[in-house]
Amino acid sequence: MSYRGSCLCGAITYTLNAELSDFGYCHCEQCRKASGAAFGANAGVDRAHVDLSDPGDRLTEYASSPGKVRAFCGGCGTPLFAYLTTTPHLIRIRLGSLDSDFLKTAKAHAFVAEKADWYPIEDGLPQFDTWADPDILVQVGSRQSQKRR
Ligand SMILES: [Zn+2]
Ligand SMILES: [Zn+2]
Repeated sequence: MSYRGSCLCGAITYTLNAELSDFGYCHCEQCRKASGAAFGANAGVDRAHVDLSDPGDRLTEYASSPGKVRAFCGGCGTPLFAYLTTTPHLIRIRLGSLDSDFLKTAKAHAFVAEKADWYPIEDGLPQFDTWADPDILVQVGSRQSQKRR
């Protein structure tokens, strides 16, 4: 399994040589801000399987809360991945940055209590006020197991 992705300006490209984890849509305020959209859609992968090309040294990191790092292109601002400093070997890829087809479908809506009023959820996926039930969706590399964002 292999996926390719890139930022909007093309300065940063990556190849994933592994399958991505299951994913859901996260409506929490931080994901809305970090994505500039109604929700975040991120899937985990082991960093050992990620081949990142950044010849212009554009990758920029921002600690949005203690222990939580968001990496983006400093040239165009595209969010690329995030990780926890406690598990830096697991990164959560921003699915919007993929160039390859990705055929998995979302398992759930998380943090629906914080969702944007202007986005009506009209699919039949399970909805959770905070983290998804881990029997339905395990968000690899997230704070789900600690019940915190
Ligand atoms: Zn860029
Ligand atoms: Zn979130």
